Amino acid sequence: MKIALRVALGVLVLGVLVAGLAVAPSAQQKPNLILITVDTLRADHLGFAGYPRDTSPNLDALARAGTWFPSYFSMSATTGAAHASLFTSLPPKDTGVTANSQPFPPDKASIMSALRAAGYARAGFVSSVVVGRKSKLQDHFDHFDDELTTVEQNRQSRYERPADQTVAAALKWIATDAPKDRPFFVWIHLIDPHGPYEAPQDPDRYVGDAYYDRITAEIPLSETDWEPGTIPRYQALGGRTDARYYVARYDAEIRYMDAALGTLFAALEQKGLASDTLIAVTADHGETLAEPGHKHFFSHGVITYDETVRIPLVIREPRGERRLGTVDRTRPLSSLDLAPTLLELLGVPIPDGFRGRNLLRAPLDPEAPIVSLGGYGTKNLEQQIGTQFSVRRGPLRYILNSKDGAQELYDSASDPGETRNLIAAPPADVAALREQVETTLGASRLATAGQQLSDEQKAALKALGYVE
Ligand SMILES: [Zn+2]
Repeated sequence: MKIALRVALGVLVLGVLVAGLAVAPSAQQKPNLILITVDTLRADHLGFAGYPRDTSPNLDALARAGTWFPSYFSMSATTGAAHASLFTSLPPKDTGVTANSQPFPPDKASIMSALRAAGYARAGFVSSVVVGRKSKLQDHFDHFDDELTTVEQNRQSRYERPADQTVAAALKWIATDAPKDRPFFVWIHLIDPHGPYEAPQDPDRYVGDAYYDRITAEIPLSETDWEPGTIPRYQALGGRTDARYYVARYDAEIRYMDAALGTLFAALEQKGLASDTLIAVTADHGETLAEPGHKHFFSHGVITYDETVRIPLVIREPRGERRLGTVDRTRPLSSLDLAPTLLELLGVPIPDGFRGRNLLRAPLDPEAPIVSLGGYGTKNLEQQIGTQFSVRRGPLRYILNSKDGAQELYDSASDPGETRNLIAAPPADVAALREQVETTLGASRLATAGQQLSDEQKAALKALGYVE
């Protein structure tokens, strides 16, 4: 009896000790990761990138405490494909997500699967139906919150949630549900800069300011979402046709989103979590505004000029580290490079299948080709609208248009706005550039280009706003 009691007590004491060890903060515990993807956020409208409006004071502070990369390009100009490629470090042909209507692959290695294997608790908080449950992304998180509380002004099928609500949900999970005995990975997706540009707070803060008259273009309103040379129907604001108004309103969306990030960063400090958390902020794609010489305004998805594929990347390392300070940050990078780099910074093994580069280990070639693809693989996108497939190599951008096979070539060193098409007298080997695009597209495009949409796919596209 005595022996049994002593054994029982011993087990109890051991149990308490083990439990105590488990909850005590460990110097060996890996840092948390918060990855923020801001939908439709182009790089050049942020303060740290030199934009004259004060759109991003909180992101500017994060960039000062960390590292930001000025030549970072998304693999895709459309939401679903861009996120799938970011998470898996694979091009769309390998994820199977080439546009917005396909589900996230169940069996590919991803940053989520790598972090699960390393013991991380994973939670996702999204703000748009495009990355909600239809995307099947919830299967890759322990907790997934796509409670969308509002609807787009001009498209009643587009459910979404403003940044302050999504950030509040993430903070609540971190405070009450995140396990204390292991690190967490939180993915926050924010939709605010996506049109129509209706910031929940102070939407007119930049209307009429010192920069307001820089843009003089008047652009007619359209009855559809994809007519060249027009303001898409879903973007229309009160019948306005002055481009400067839309640009000012886009910037106010960024400012509103940035304030929500300020709340997040301050709360992490207050909870004592900031130092042990790696924070990365990026986007899925940018947005065309009123770029002279380009044919689609206030749009993205099938366009791969700089304004839709050059996206921000800010990484604030944990525990005061500045390991990325040794990286030549001016080198061109792809969004495929982000997942392996984040895993390296966390000390988590990088899956073998990842195609992107670990920035801390790989030599970064200034001439490395960086491919960016418009959404493709649906009859509507490719055959009706057409989509752009592009590669950037050094200062050159080559674009192949899917609908008519037209080619474009720009030299950003002398023509940053990409308005002078050099394809008639190319200063480089165009065949080699085109081959980069075709290799990245692979055979899957050939298989899908001519396919007919099923009724279910048509319904899904309609729900996403791509088909009427
Ligand atoms: Zn998007």
